Amino acid sequence: MGKPKSRKRASRAGEISLRSPGLSYRPAPKAAVLLLHCERLPLPELAEKFGTPLYIYSGNAIRHRYREFDRAFHGLPHTVCYSVKANSNLGILRLLSVMGCGFDVVSGGELERVLQVDRKAARKVVFSGVGKTAAEMDAALKAGILLFNIESESELELLAERAERRRITARIALRVNPDVPAETHPYISTGLHRHKFGVPIHDASRLYARAADSLFLEVVGVSVHIGSQITNLAPFTSAMERVADLVRGLREDGHTIRYVDAGGGLGIAYTQIGLPEFADFVGHYAAAISTPLQGLKLHLLLEPGRSIIGPAGALLTRVLYHKNNNSKKFLVVDAAMNDLVRPALYDAYHEIVSVVRDAAAGEHQVFDVVGPVCETGDFFAREREMPPVKDGDLLAILDVGAYGMVLASNYNTRPRPAEVLVDGKKARLIRRREKLSDLFRLEKAKA
Ligand SMILES: *Cc1c(COP(=O)(O)O)cnc(C)c1O
Repeated sequence: MGKPKSRKRASRAGEISLRSPGLSYRPAPKAAVLLLHCERLPLPELAEKFGTPLYIYSGNAIRHRYREFDRAFHGLPHTVCYSVKANSNLGILRLLSVMGCGFDVVSGGELERVLQVDRKAARKVVFSGVGKTAAEMDAALKAGILLFNIESESELELLAERAERRRITARIALRVNPDVPAETHPYISTGLHRHKFGVPIHDASRLYARAADSLFLEVVGVSVHIGSQITNLAPFTSAMERVADLVRGLREDGHTIRYVDAGGGLGIAYTQIGLPEFADFVGHYAAAISTPLQGLKLHLLLEPGRSIIGPAGALLTRVLYHKNNNSKKFLVVDAAMNDLVRPALYDAYHEIVSVVRDAAAGEHQVFDVVGPVCETGDFFAREREMPPVKDGDLLAILDVGAYGMVLASNYNTRPRPAEVLVDGKKARLIRRREKLSDLFRLEKAKA
């Protein structure tokens, strides 16, 4: 027996982990600086090869987070249905599908993505969203999805009609609105009566009775989703207590409730302080959700998006210019709000780090990090203390795996960035950078 082999995971001398296991600083080969790596690839190499701005994802970070999430619920029969809207790249969906993950979709387009990746994955698909069209319902019926989450009486009527026309039974759950406040940004809080989501819990038993009357609807579950980026776990428990009461009531009414869909919404740490390690945090989350359901013999469905993919992604961008307006210092970078809109849309905080870390670089300075788009809202950070940065330097904007690329647009006729999935020493282009011709393709200058 020799000394234990140093495994890849073990942190090596001089290595500083930023987001484990995806991002870390490692010593540069011949210089006294540290270079930010995604797994085993130095980011300057990726910038060179694929250009900037560039979304990069760590495959092992995604797998690790999916496994931790799944493991946290080991005590209960459950299916993790990754929320496709957080990041719908086919390469990401494929990676998760191979691991046995199911999917939560909110459109016919997202369903089609899942089917492209694996036809058989339909059995693990739940379909959410307040405005499903007849065509989307038809596609989901044909694919044979696991569950429709129904959000209104009109939607229930339409699904009953589409299912009958096709003679395919649709399994349904009603998404109830538990009226619990989730302490998060008002735009991503969904569990209050004043929000558009779900049906009021006091109305549920009438709608369940209506659904049970329909020959082609099979009532199988109750579903709930109270919002996103929730870091205080108490609202999850409150919501599940109400759901548990409803399940008991519905069973008394004679409905066979087998599934509870607990939705998504588990938050991540966008700053380095605050939340416990993911394995612990997701463990607490699992307890918060499962405890009220104890003894009910249910199959739990979970729809995590951000908590699986958020910290696994970074946006690599190059500094174009320095700019001083009076005493205010700006860094103009080549990424913009069209590539990552979260700061502009939610005033979201994202950590921004230099790809090269040089201990001898000098004193920190205060910058606004902004993009080239003609909007004051086009910023990534305001009054941010950072090490000195030169024109041409690379920066990484962290924790952008979720609600990053999926919200990207072509505003200012900017082609959207490429996306790269890293696995160990391999980088795979999972979406090429748009060309200007891609942007014009659907338009016509003349009749
Ligand atoms: C957005 C959404 C999710 C995923 O939320 P995260 O905060 O990314 O975990 C899950 N379920 C539904 C119905 C959603 O709308």
